Amino acid sequence: MKIVTVVGARPQFIKAAAMSRILRETHVEVLVHTGQHHDPMMSDVFFTELQIPHPDYDLGISGGSHAQMTARMLTALEEVLIKEAPDALLIYGDTNSTLAAALAAVKLRIPVIHVEAGNRLGTLDNPEEINRIVADHTAKLLFACVPSAVEALKKENLQDRAYLVGDPMLDAFCHYRQWNGGQPPQTLSGLDGHAVRTPERFYYLTCHREENTRTDDTLAQILMAMESLPHPTLYPVHPRNHAAAVRLGQKLKLQNVKLLSPIGYLESIALVANAQRVVTDSGGVQREAFFAHVPCVTVFPYAVWPETMPGMCNVLAAPETEDILAKLSVTPAWSDAASPFGDGHACEKIIAHLPEALR
Ligand code: UDP
Repeated sequence: MKIVTVVGARPQFIKAAAMSRILRETHVEVLVHTGQHHDPMMSDVFFTELQIPHPDYDLGISGGSHAQMTARMLTALEEVLIKEAPDALLIYGDTNSTLAAALAAVKLRIPVIHVEAGNRLGTLDNPEEINRIVADHTAKLLFACVPSAVEALKKENLQDRAYLVGDPMLDAFCHYRQWNGGQPPQTLSGLDGHAVRTPERFYYLTCHREENTRTDDTLAQILMAMESLPHPTLYPVHPRNHAAAVRLGQKLKLQNVKLLSPIGYLESIALVANAQRVVTDSGGVQREAFFAHVPCVTVFPYAVWPETMPGMCNVLAAPETEDILAKLSVTPAWSDAASPFGDGHACEKIIAHLPEALR
């Protein structure tokens, strides 16, 4: 089969790295990069480090409002799909690139395959939720990472097209975790251009959700919590809150929180796996902390990945210093049960389902 895959953002590059390697053994893949994440440390580093095939199309579309970005992608992707006439479109997750690709394909009657289907917060206040719902309802095939996602799809009457296969992020984690012997690099690149030595003990922070970056106050609360901890915090700053992080770094005279440039995936999973604790609002990072058995505090009002939460392995916190510190003091209990995220072979299972399900 000929499959057009559309990616555009950091977490999609990682899933595509796990998938493309195997997909191309038996199918023809045309890779389209929308350009949603485009700078060297948000895009190129993933293609190079993870040896993702060079995109066949690089649309160069980023920035603007949600509507402007999605509209430009929609038009450009329609052209690509008409030209390539694939048997199916493959999309991941919940970004504007996912939404635009799903809409462009379904109107051309090209079957849509949605990987990471069924996650729900239960609110349209979250911009990614809208993308998830549209992608799931336009797709012909829904591949869910976890049982709670299948339950959500049942509630929306989508169970006939849904398969529980596990999480491609676990596939990627298992495949790449031994890079550098599983150790983080000795030095990292500070946001101010200086090298930062990786301390022996550290916390790992990522924060970029719209909910946590609308005002400086929210990020300030998170940074003040991290500043007061007994070990340094390593914080690769997402371009979305670069300016706010620099501003707050000066205002709060941060010493213990090390502001870093965005890092590559291999460095990121090594930091997750070796951190004392992880504090994040990222869907990917909270799962990686769970995969590595590192306690995690997720600064977010909704449980996106409820399977990480039993035993308090991952605990939600409000964006308030006191609450984050209270949640960081929790001692989790890890379960010996099989991982709810599968066995690290989700991509193989997805590919095995394609011929039958798309017939
Ligand atoms: N990540 C990375 N570099 C960073 C921060 C995160 O490679 O500087 C990785 C992280 O380990 C995870 C993925 O990016 O694999 C998560 O992406 P992001 O937080 O942008 O998206 P989300 O998972 O929230 O959709």
